[in-house]
Amino acid sequence: MPKKIPLRQCVGCREMKPKKELIRVVRSPEGAVSLDFKGKLPGRGAYVCPDPACLAKARKSKGLERAFETALPPEVWEALENQMKGGDQDG
Ligand SMILES: [Zn+2]
Repeated sequence: MPKKIPLRQCVGCREMKPKKELIRVVRSPEGAVSLDFKGKLPGRGAYVCPDPACLAKARKSKGLERAFETALPPEVWEALENQMKGGDQDG
């Protein structure tokens, strides 16, 4: 029997993918939004592919903002983009 793989939807391309292939984006109880590469930070989570293009899509479609029910200022998006670029290297 194959193991059931938990699927999550990317807020950018809207594809369902195994949780492990996605990066969790978390909004902390304090309202800070960041990428959660280990999937362990507390707060409300959403998922995005480890791909700056999906982050850009999520930004355009406001997918992440819908998931978090809050507006994300440009500096938050820039920080997420930087984390995405840097975090890819050392998993
Ligand atoms: Zn995606």
